[in-house]
Amino acid sequence: MKIILLGAPGSGKGTVAKLLVEKFSIPQISTGDILRGAVSAGTDIGKKAKEYMAKGDLVPDEIIMGIMEERLQKEDCQNGFILDGFPRTIPQAESLKKLLAKLGINLDLVVNLEVPEEEIIKRLTSRRTCSNAKCQAIYNVISMPPKQDGICDKCGNPIVQREDETAEAIKYRLETYQEKTAPLINFYEQEGFLETVEALSSKVVFDKIVEKTGK
Ligand code: AMP
Repeated sequence: MKIILLGAPGSGKGTVAKLLVEKFSIPQISTGDILRGAVSAGTDIGKKAKEYMAKGDLVPDEIIMGIMEERLQKEDCQNGFILDGFPRTIPQAESLKKLLAKLGINLDLVVNLEVPEEEIIKRLTSRRTCSNAKCQAIYNVISMPPKQDGICDKCGNPIVQREDETAEAIKYRLETYQEKTAPLINFYEQEGFLETVEALSSKVVFDKIVEKTGK
């Protein structure tokens, strides 16, 4: 299954992706996770991306497409993949279309996770992420706290509030989403792949995807 999860930051793409990974044994490809890994490893890409990310700005399309061109050709993508947080701009969606055609890959579904803005702000300000770049497990201090305060259940490293999840950065990321990413809803509607789901919970979205793909 080849699927794209579209939606504002905090709409639950990452959580839904993890449910899909478990069910279908295909990789979650999150450009945000890849970039945070690169920043923490201090690679060239990480050095270029760091400032954009800290402000909540999008990283330039050429950098993202370089990452994705390489990633989609890895062995583990042969049976499918879940794209989480990519594409995020119309030029990325157009480049992805060309790349998939070149690789002979057909998309199955683009799911648009719809969540009211107040709910998004509530979710993002209470979200915490494992500081271990290889783990990046997600928690929520209200609805899904770790068993031990401040410590990741999975790997034992500290969980932190991301630099781009302060109230100011969140506001900016949501504006960026409206301006640059929301137009993709129309793009994929015209391409005939779009399914919009009221993303009240990750389980609702997951069930809808399973129903739609008939798997
Ligand atoms: P995320 O974890 O998906 O919210 O991404 C965190 C940050 O990484 C974003 O605010 C952007 O700065 C950057 N980023 C992630 N994916 C992309 C993308 N597809 N295009 C541009 N920037 C991205």
